[in-house]
Amino acid sequence: MIDKTQISPAPLVDPFGRKITYLRLSVTDRCDLRCNYCMSEKMTFLPKSDLLDVSELDTVASAFIARGVRKIRITGGEPLVRRNIIEIMQRISNHLGDGLDELTLTTNGTQLEKHAADLVKVGVRRVNVSLDTLNPESFSRITRGGRLNQVLDGIAAAQSHGLKVKLNVVVLKYENLEELPFIVRWAHKRDIDVTLIEAMPMGEIEADRFDQYTPLSDVQRNFRKLWTMSRDSFQTGGPSDYWRVKETGGRLGFITPMSNNFCGGCNRVRLTCTGRLVLCLGQTDDADLRAVLRGGGDIHAALEEAIARKPKSHDFLIDAPGQKPAISRHMSMTGG
Ligand code: SAM
Ligand code: SF4
Repeated sequence: MIDKTQISPAPLVDPFGRKITYLRLSVTDRCDLRCNYCMSEKMTFLPKSDLLDVSELDTVASAFIARGVRKIRITGGEPLVRRNIIEIMQRISNHLGDGLDELTLTTNGTQLEKHAADLVKVGVRRVNVSLDTLNPESFSRITRGGRLNQVLDGIAAAQSHGLKVKLNVVVLKYENLEELPFIVRWAHKRDIDVTLIEAMPMGEIEADRFDQYTPLSDVQRNFRKLWTMSRDSFQTGGPSDYWRVKETGGRLGFITPMSNNFCGGCNRVRLTCTGRLVLCLGQTDDADLRAVLRGGGDIHAALEEAIARKPKSHDFLIDAPGQKPAISRHMSMTGG
């Protein structure tokens, strides 16, 4: 009998001993919203021929899974606006139970009503929906024209098809700070976990990031005046630090890339929709996997070479008005 452990390629381990088990795969840079912390109002999108096609995405995902990646999160831009998104996810889902433990997605929720049933069919069990406010006017302002009801209908459809929903909320000093307890109560009442995220200085936008960023330590301090919070051992493989709110019974996560660097436990890399392997969200170094794929190169050798360059940590900083973004790539390009 063949001993599989002898023939499977070695896991990807970076120079700091961190095993890469989680891939965030961006399938498009396009989006039907224009969130004012993520994009500039007039974004130029890439020609479709620049994007990895279905079989290229499948090849890269398969290579990562062969090298020890257990979780893949599909993202973008807005992943559900990519025309053949379900086919892409169907291909990757063939690895579920055979190396891959979880296939999931981050979405703005606008197209969830249309796609929820198909997502379940391709093995998705949990989705992260990004929603920063429950106020229709604020929502329209933050997203530059989005309709809140479309997202709420999407969330309801996802839940009615049995998908576990988590809300991702970017905390914005002048937009949703006051509303956060309401959002948490609203979500927990519907069995939806919430994760709060600090705004990061990625890409040129019209607003000053200094006017958006709030350290989540301040938010947590305020929550403790309202609620009894205890640590929760829940782990998703992501960077969130989870708490349980006694009064609501729900789970609350904090992602603090700015105020509390969590890079020591980093297990992730990101692939942009054009096939650039981003080794750290907060650093510029990357590897062009599309060139390897289209040039007939060795994808495994390329992965090893890239992971050997994974930086130790990011060094994001927002500590004064008028600062240039730390990273010129927008989050919609990198894949959040
Ligand atoms: N369109 C999808 C969505 O909104 O969920 C997926 C892509 S979006 C880039 C992924 C996540 O990144 C979202 O939760 C979004 O709020 C977050 N994000 C975008 N720009 C950010 C920034 N500058 N700082 C922190 N989070 C950001
Ligand atoms: Fe689009 Fe998501 Fe960026 Fe908002 S955060 S503009 S929904 S990609």
